[in-house]
Amino acid sequence: MGVHNSLMRNVRGFSEEELEYYSRQIVLTEVGLDGQLKLKNSRVCIVGLGGLGSPSAIQLASMGVGHIRLVDRDVVELSNLQRQHLYSVSMVGYPKVEAAESRLRGLNPYIEIEPLPVSLNANNAEDILRGIDVVVDGLDHMAPRYAINRACIKLGIPYVFGAAITHIGNLSTIIPGETPCLECFHVNVDDRNIPSCAVVGVNPSIINIVASIQASEAIKILLGKPPNLASVLLFCNLQDLTFDKIELAKNEVCPVCGKTPRTKPTPLEKEFVEEVCGREGRRVFVITPENDVDLNLGVIDERLKQLRYEIDARAKLGRTFSNKMGVKGSILTSGVAIIEGVKGKEEAKQLLNQILH
Ligand SMILES: [Zn+2]
Repeated sequence: MGVHNSLMRNVRGFSEEELEYYSRQIVLTEVGLDGQLKLKNSRVCIVGLGGLGSPSAIQLASMGVGHIRLVDRDVVELSNLQRQHLYSVSMVGYPKVEAAESRLRGLNPYIEIEPLPVSLNANNAEDILRGIDVVVDGLDHMAPRYAINRACIKLGIPYVFGAAITHIGNLSTIIPGETPCLECFHVNVDDRNIPSCAVVGVNPSIINIVASIQASEAIKILLGKPPNLASVLLFCNLQDLTFDKIELAKNEVCPVCGKTPRTKPTPLEKEFVEEVCGREGRRVFVITPENDVDLNLGVIDERLKQLRYEIDARAKLGRTFSNKMGVKGSILTSGVAIIEGVKGKEEAKQLLNQILH
């Protein structure tokens, strides 16, 4: 090991391996060594690790964002793998944040990954997002997006909004105090009125386009450069490959960010038992505790055994289980549970109660 190597090892706090890992982007004029250092000292939160969060997580991790907080309440399912390329068949039944953490650590061991197996809502959004430099949207419904929007406006955190369904995507970059917020242009959208990808489908290509633009916007903000989609709503349509930019104006009476709001923000539903779309007519319920908890999985294992469930996936952050009657479920350490194969909400709640008490 010569003088040259020991000098190399300390270039601006990067190891020799890191310099080699990032060499193809350090030469980019918009990044450089200074920019790479900014990325290393940055903290990004990706909320939702499905179709959109999957490619943006891969890009932001491999580009060297130093700290990535991953937020998701789901477990990996076989029907995810067509578009959620963070995961593999061997990870089916594992909490997505845990599967993602393991994949991203393998992809880039020089950064920190922080997995949070929680359901982001109006109660916990501020706690989850505090200390973050940019939030990247990987969600598939509006209620948690509104919770993010309000927390980001309050905490002054830039938020890269993105959404995709069938072959269409739309996105915008929200800078608190400068640009319109999400509720200036997508106001009071009721999740019950928007189609879900389980029903109408989603093309993996549009997801990758939207997520790549989101990652690019996040990187620009972290590098201190102006993002392209500030005060702009970009519509992408893969059917005819068109990209339309719509200029957005700040709504001065916006109840969330306006200077002279006429009304209070619409209260966000704090629905603790939600029905989500299932397969083959089976009903699926997601149950979120009012406050995030930290469950002891050893105790859960005992209860599952007593109740004659088979454990199908034994993860660090949760369990996936089933029984011979066709009931399936997952329970995460945060207390979030997904219950499938029951007749209704009440039965789902009862079943969870049996496991917890
Ligand atoms: Zn607004």
